[in-house]
Amino acid sequence: MNAEQPILVVGGGIAGLATALAAAPAPVLLLTRAPGARGAASAMAQGGIAAAIDPGDSPQAHAHDTCVAGSFHNDAAIVDLLTTCAADAVQWLQEIGVAFDREPDGRLQFGREGGHDRPRIVHAGGDATGAKVMEALVAAARAAGHITRRAGVEVDGLVLRDGRACGVCLTEADGTRTVVHGRAVVLATGGIGGLFAQTSNPADADGSGLALAQAAGVALRDLEFVQFHPTALALPGLHSLPLVTEALRGAGATLRDSKSRALMAGVHPLGDLAPRDIVARRVWQACQEGGALLDAAVVGADFPRKFPTVFQACMDHGIDPRVQPIPVTPAAHFHMGGIVVDADGRSSLPGLYAVGEVACNGVHGANRLASNSLLEGVVFGRRLGALLRGLPADAVDGGHYRLLHRPPSLAGAELAAVRTWLMQAMGPLRTEHGLREGLQACAGLQGWQAALATALLDAAWKRKDSLGAHYRV
Ligand SMILES: Cc1cc2nc3c(=O)[nH]c(=O)nc-3n(C[C@H](O)[C@H](O)[C@H](O)COP(=O)(O)OP(=O)(O)OC[C@H]3O[C@@H](n4cnc5c(N)ncnc54)[C@H](O)[C@@H]3O)c2cc1C
Repeated sequence: MNAEQPILVVGGGIAGLATALAAAPAPVLLLTRAPGARGAASAMAQGGIAAAIDPGDSPQAHAHDTCVAGSFHNDAAIVDLLTTCAADAVQWLQEIGVAFDREPDGRLQFGREGGHDRPRIVHAGGDATGAKVMEALVAAARAAGHITRRAGVEVDGLVLRDGRACGVCLTEADGTRTVVHGRAVVLATGGIGGLFAQTSNPADADGSGLALAQAAGVALRDLEFVQFHPTALALPGLHSLPLVTEALRGAGATLRDSKSRALMAGVHPLGDLAPRDIVARRVWQACQEGGALLDAAVVGADFPRKFPTVFQACMDHGIDPRVQPIPVTPAAHFHMGGIVVDADGRSSLPGLYAVGEVACNGVHGANRLASNSLLEGVVFGRRLGALLRGLPADAVDGGHYRLLHRPPSLAGAELAAVRTWLMQAMGPLRTEHGLREGLQACAGLQGWQAALATALLDAAWKRKDSLGAHYRV
């Protein structure tokens, strides 16, 4: 018997850290590719965290908005869990040191985003919510005696004994391969945006944890539902693109085609402020026909003060958004699908749990409501941590176990080809022909990215009707 076997948490974003912290006092070994918050999408979140905290608001209203955005493909019981636990999640974040922005009278300040029927988004440092939240979580994890962190490792395999996950295989930066045993394995490896040619995600969000689960035969679902952000800064040749926030359109900026014609005129009553998926499709079409631009001259001299992040990103690439239109493109932003889990994060493989963007408990349905995913990481991470804390610490070491490795990684040109195929075939507009071509192109490739891309394309090919973010032409 080995009472000291830790809970293995793979991923140091909001979901992994919330799980690790909530598992106290059980020992946790946190395994990440990079130190601190580096490589985690969580640190890039700009909008904030949705929670029905205002006295006039209610978890039911938040749940309703979540299900409308998700085209009612959501699991209603899980949505209720998310929205009823939201205020408590924000309170917990404050207790570990997140200073959310406040009104002059001291009340929390609530922002409003697309799809929410009222202001209910808490944010920190203006558009730096993710960075502020991660700063506090990383500091709390460092101070927590029960968490040991091992950064600079790639988790690329599972250890299985008697049909249970009981450890992971690691590759260190110098290529050394090791095996670590644990009483439970948690995948909190984030999304799949990095598998697409254009993404708002960090390149690390490449679906490696999802591919590991796929290789182990773990049940996956809703893989076809990928949310595209309509306006990333179009920088030819670059993979991970800076976001050009929707708030600019809220401030009067307008989308135009390459001939300077208004892009959203006659497309939707809300024009430039139409739902994200509708705008993404129109921008995507314009990009195929010569390009899409965001004319933000209306913001004028106030640009650097009001939108410092976008201003800096544009200026870094030689675009002065006060006087020049900003070239934009849709970018893969969020994956609604993932590893099938229940409300406590249990996957179909005993001993293996998943949480955050890599998991799919049905909360987002066919399209995610803005600012619900950081919340998801905290609410379901804390639930999972509490469950794991209660696990018996008597996992048996040694004995007969087998190692299940993810297939090797694609490199160079083949990886670039998979990314391009996914963007073309599984982008905002999908056709029968394009999906079939994408499937054929991936069939000849051996790496895990190709295997995962095939599963994504296959799911999109099988869903013949449009639903939420999945749009079939
Ligand atoms: C630009 C941007 C803005 C956003 N804005 C918002 C917002 O305002 N509000 C909101 O709610 N959501 C927002 N989102 C979405 C949200 O940030 C993510 O869905 C969420 O942070 C995902 O958290 P996570 O913990 O699941 O994954 P991540 O934060 O991506 O963390 C994944 C971790 O897993 C590690 N990892 C991955 N694979 C391996 C491996 N094989 N071995 C070891 N480690 C591995 C990574 O290094 C990383 O530490 C935004 C996303 C982006 C990209």
